[in-house]
Parts: sequence; C-alpha cells; structure tokens
Amino acid sequence: MNGALAGRVAVIGSGIAGLVTALELAPRPVVLITQAGLGEASSTALAQGGIAAALAEGDSVESHIADTLAAGDGLCDAPVVERILRGTPDAIAMLVRHGVRFDRGASGFSFGLEAAHAHHRILHAAGDGTGAEISRALVAAVLTCPSITVLAGAQVRRLLTRDGQISGVLLARDGRAEVLLTSQVVMATGGIGGLYDTTTSPVSNFGQGVAMAARAGAALADMEFVQFHPTALALGQGRVTLISEAVRGEGAILLNDRGERFMADQPGAELAPRDVVARAIHQQIADGRRVFLDARQALGDRFAVRFPGIARLCAAAALDPARDAIPVRPAVHYHMGGIWTDTKGRTTLPGLWAVGECASTGLHGANRLASNSLLEGAVVGMRAAESIAATRTRPLAPAPKGIELPEAAHTQAVRGIVSRHLGIVRDGASLRQAMSELLPMGDDAAIVALSIATFAALRDESRGAHSRLDFPAQVARPSRRRMVLDDILRSARLLTQTRLVRSA
Ligand SMILES: Cc1cc2nc3c(=O)[nH]c(=O)nc-3n(C[C@H](O)[C@H](O)[C@H](O)COP(=O)(O)OP(=O)(O)OC[C@H]3O[C@@H](n4cnc5c(N)ncnc54)[C@H](O)[C@@H]3O)c2cc1C
Repeated sequence: MNGALAGRVAVIGSGIAGLVTALELAPRPVVLITQAGLGEASSTALAQGGIAAALAEGDSVESHIADTLAAGDGLCDAPVVERILRGTPDAIAMLVRHGVRFDRGASGFSFGLEAAHAHHRILHAAGDGTGAEISRALVAAVLTCPSITVLAGAQVRRLLTRDGQISGVLLARDGRAEVLLTSQVVMATGGIGGLYDTTTSPVSNFGQGVAMAARAGAALADMEFVQFHPTALALGQGRVTLISEAVRGEGAILLNDRGERFMADQPGAELAPRDVVARAIHQQIADGRRVFLDARQALGDRFAVRFPGIARLCAAAALDPARDAIPVRPAVHYHMGGIWTDTKGRTTLPGLWAVGECASTGLHGANRLASNSLLEGAVVGMRAAESIAATRTRPLAPAPKGIELPEAAHTQAVRGIVSRHLGIVRDGASLRQAMSELLPMGDDAAIVALSIATFAALRDESRGAHSRLDFPAQVARPSRRRMVLDDILRSARLLTQTRLVRSA
C-alpha cells in the first residue's frame, strides 16, 4: 500500500499523452507511473515526422479536417475530428510553453509535407527528431513541476474497481505488489506494436492499458484497425527502424528490385494513404520482389541535413541514403483502436480517462493520417486534465486484502499467432483460427490480440487499414464498433463455434 500518494490522480505512462496530462493537471497532485525511465520506452521519443498543425499561411483547419476524413476512409467521427483539430493552436502553444523547440525559418515555423496532407503542415524539430525533442522538453517540465511525483520503473498490472467505478491501481515495483488507492486514473500506455514480430514501436508496449481497461469493464472501440507503416528498414525483427513518410514528402520514390516504380499509377503515387502504400509494398514482397526507397535523386547529399537521425540509423546498417536505395518493408506502427473515449478522454468506466494511442476517440477512423497522433495526445491530454479537474473525487475505498500480482503476459506465444493471422491482409478462416488459439490463453497480451481478431472477424468489409481477402468491398453504411470484454468473449466463442458447425 502506498499511503503517502493515495488520493492523487494516477497517470500511467510517460509518452506525450501522460506527460501533457500530468503537466496540465498542475497544481493538482499527480502520481505519474511509468514502467521504464521517465519518457523512455515510448513511441513518442521515436517520432520522426512531426506534429500536424494547419497553421501555415494558406492552410486551414477545414483542409486538415478534409484530409483526416479522407484518410480515415469513411469511419472517422466527423464532429470528433473537428473538435480535436480545432484544438491545434492551443496544443502547439502549450508545447512551446513547456519548452519544445520546433524548427523555424525566417518567417516563423517551418512546415514539412507528409502523405495525404494537402498542405505543408507538419511541424518538426531537429529535422527528424521531433518526438525526442517533445519528450525532452516535457520530461524536463515534469521534473521541475512540484505537483507531480514520478514513480519510474513501476508497472501497472491491474485497475481496481468498486461498485463499477475506479478505486485504485495495482502496480509492480521492485518485484513487489503495491496498491495505490485513487478514484481518478488516466491510462496513457501507448500502442500495441509489441504484439507483432516486427514493429516500429517499443516492443515493451503491447496494449497493457487496453487489456487492463477492458478487464475493469471499459468499452473498447475499433480494435481491428492496426496501421502498418509502409517503409520500415527491411533489416532484422522486433523493433525496426522507421524511414519517415516525410522522406517521401521530400520526393523519394519507391522502386522494386526490377527498378519498377510500382506506385507511379496510383492516385497520390508514393504519397497515397498509408494503408494503400503498405498493401502495395506487401503485394510486391508476396510476389517475391524486394522494395527500396530511393532518395538519391530527390535529396542526395541533402538527406543527412534534412533527416540527420534517419541518416544515422541507416549508417548503423551500413547504408548511405545519398548513394544507396534503402531496403524497406511494412511494419506495425500505430493502433487506431483502443479504449473508447470522448474528446475529453472520458471512458465508459467512471473514474477512468484514456489519452493518446491507447485510446480510440474516432479521430483516425479506419486509418490515421500521418502526424495526427502526437497532436491528438496533446489536445486530448489538455482536455482530459480539464475534465478531471472538473470531476469531484470520491472517498477512497478500503484497501483490498491479500492482493497478488497477476502473472506476466505471454507476449512471445501471442506474437506468433498475431503475426500469422492479424497482418496487412486477413480472411475469415485465419481470423477464426487466431480466435480459437487465443481464447484459452487469457493473459493481457492474449486479451488485446483476441479483441483485434474478434473486431476484425465481425467487420465483413475492407476499409482503411483493415483488408479482408474474403470481403474486398466496402459496406454502404459503415459504423464504428464498441464492445466490452464480455461481448468480445461471447462473440469470439460464437464465431469460432460457427466454424466448427460449418466444417462438421
Ligand atoms: C517510430 C515511430 C515514429 C512515429 N512518428 C510519428 C510522427 O512523426 N508524428 C505523429 O503524430 N506520430 C508518430 N508516431 C506515433 C506516435 O509517436 C504515437 O502514437 C504517440 O507518441 C503515442 O503517445 P502515447 O503517449 O500515447 O504513448 P507512448 O509514447 O508510446 O508512451 C506510452 C508510455 O506508457 C508506458 N507504459 C506502457 N504500459 C505501462 C504499464 N503497464 N505501466 C506503466 N507504464 C506503462 C510506456 O513505458 C511509455 O512511457 C510514431 C510512432 C513510432 C513508433
């Protein structure tokens, strides 16, 4: 029991979502719990491209909204998109206030271009070091903020509830179980990359927050939508190096090993939406081809100036993008689905807010527009802080007795199933196979994977990042789906039984 910290708002995770929420809650006392060092093991620190902000002359929030809706492929929640994107100026001002140094030119911010954006609207820092700069500045601000107590190296394993409301968290610290009683918790645990064999994000994040929220009774939404980044460095497994979309924004082209520019005839060519480019590369690889990103003509020696971080990562793999075409392949990158929330981060479970990649607000629909996720974390983090401050705390529940740490998740076993069956292209038989393998497992990784498989099996169409070989068309009136864990388990059992009956 951690009595000294009881009653504080507990923020779980120290990426942009957790750091912003904790800072914006000041002077309200907060305990910021994070499993690695502060700001570490986060996707935030790895972000290269930047943060979308329609603030350049000639750009408009209407244009940003239109691009977001188009990338979301008919599944964005339009009022949510508008509410979040209209928060952009405040969010950028807040980041600058906390010390983030965006790149500037003679006339103010310097804006880059990324796929499926109609304007140059990507704010970046240190060229391709945007995430590292945001993380540096916010971590420094947190360390000097007297209202925030940081518990680093502490992993939250369960949410505690009483009478259908949040009553605390159970965490593992120094190998021991610790309970923190509180009626207000913010989940900011990031994405699900660690569920897959190959990902651009930290493998330690496999959706723990989503699993904990689901176990506690919060609804999940749009879990089937997993974004694959088209251009990860095609070397190695586990966490792989990302080659930012901004490189294609600067004119780099995609070629196969026959020298064919296979995206040339597609609308948008190399800057088509991510799911389109990822599927095209996937198809090339399935056909036995290798794929390269060629920046030699477009950037040449300028590559190392515009993208110093990527140039360094390529050099570590003995590649010089000024002279060599970079071998690429798709890798899991972002999760549009997650814990259902409104635009203030409120979940369906009283006392629980969720912000950032672990949440699903409806901003991204079926496919996230590049550089909208850092923005969402900042905007919703600010609003969640306001919402928490406006919510009355409840008296603390009595401490639970004899509580034990749950077993750690079996990520390795789940990873094989997920990578085989929940990839860029899916089909019903494969999804049902995944569900039957995952149903008996029951740990946190399996719960997240089972949710993805079940939502995917229920969506009989191909849309955005969800592509079904057996349902290539789109339904006329698509809708987002939201389910609690009991519904997910019931659906998974029914769907797997269907197979048994059909094949009997
Ligand atoms: C390589 C890469 C490049 C990207 N580039 C861009 C970009 O240019 N622009 C853009 O908008 N988006 C980009 N994204 C996506 C974006 O970075 C993420 O969506 C965003 O940073 C997520 O922020 P977050 O705070 O929700 O999660 P994260 O930044 O991932 O932070 C999650 C935190 O939760 C902690 N945590 C997890 N589980 C627990 C637990 N059980 N207990 C305690 N702590 C826990 C983690 O250690 C971490 O501190 C990129 C992603 C990657 C991987």
